Amino acid sequence: MAHLQGLVIAAHGRHYLIQATINGEVQKLHCVTRGKKSDVSVGDVVEFALTSKNQGVIEAITPRKTLLYRSDQYKSKMLAANLTQLLIVVATEPSFTDDLVSRALVAAESSGIKPHLILNKVDVTESLPKARERVGLYAKLGYPVHEVSAKADPEGTRMTMENLMRGQSTILIGQSGMGKSSLINLLIPDAEIATREISAALDTGKHTTTFTRLYQMDENSYVIDSPGFQEFGLHHLSEGMLERAFPEFLPHLGHCKFYNCHHHAEPGCAILAAVKEGSIAAMRHELFEQLVHESAQTVGY
Ligand code: GDP
Ligand code: ZN
Repeated sequence: MAHLQGLVIAAHGRHYLIQATINGEVQKLHCVTRGKKSDVSVGDVVEFALTSKNQGVIEAITPRKTLLYRSDQYKSKMLAANLTQLLIVVATEPSFTDDLVSRALVAAESSGIKPHLILNKVDVTESLPKARERVGLYAKLGYPVHEVSAKADPEGTRMTMENLMRGQSTILIGQSGMGKSSLINLLIPDAEIATREISAALDTGKHTTTFTRLYQMDENSYVIDSPGFQEFGLHHLSEGMLERAFPEFLPHLGHCKFYNCHHHAEPGCAILAAVKEGSIAAMRHELFEQLVHESAQTVGY
């Protein structure tokens, strides 16, 4: 029998929920991988063979356009495949962490995924000026910032988000409390029902709601939510990959005195000079050094 093709919409261990069109009808099938392998990610397009009416075995993964990693015990593990954009949700209140924002930006840059910042809760006017000033750093680096209020302006927020997400494969991430669930619920009104269905289909257990899942918005747009998500996996990035993930470093690369400069304390370092003179934020250079340190401590994936 010819192989069928489908989109992986949820994963739990070696169990996957695949959405596929069979005989002109959109179906969801419970698939497993062969053997003990679980190298399939949500967002993958896979070839599979049917083993019964609504079950199958994954035979092959079609080449990925992008792959984003999460961190798991100091290793980078797959988070989602074929994404085109990453929306980082921050809020006026509670205040967000720059370290998490920059790590997300590095993850996106190194995977070839376009990042945007969503500043939510702009209705909290007393915290707005400070929040605007803080996201201003990222806007200056060239990252688009969009202001929304899921609570005070749900219609406007939905329109902004839908425009942004049309034709894209998006993942939404944010620290707890920023309003990510509120935004997902605005975009996918039946998200909770869908989650329960997926959980039942994959037999994840009643209380497991932390698996990564994909919601189709229209034929060409989908959004991935990963409620259990903690941290991006950046361990596999080499020093060279890390420097290129900081756009403000790019004009200075190749201008250091030493061709193999680590931008740590070397004389004649163009990056350090830019930090001193204020055109590179000290906070961003510190994170670069921290990430180099972290990746040196782990080997491989
Ligand atoms: P999550 O932890 O990121 O998923 O955040 P939630 O969506 O659960 O939101 C956290 C809290 O912020 C909840 O009490 C929401 O009602 C509130 N919240 C979400 N969006 C807004 C907003 O636009 N304005 C205000 N004032 N509160 C909001
Ligand atoms: Zn240097």
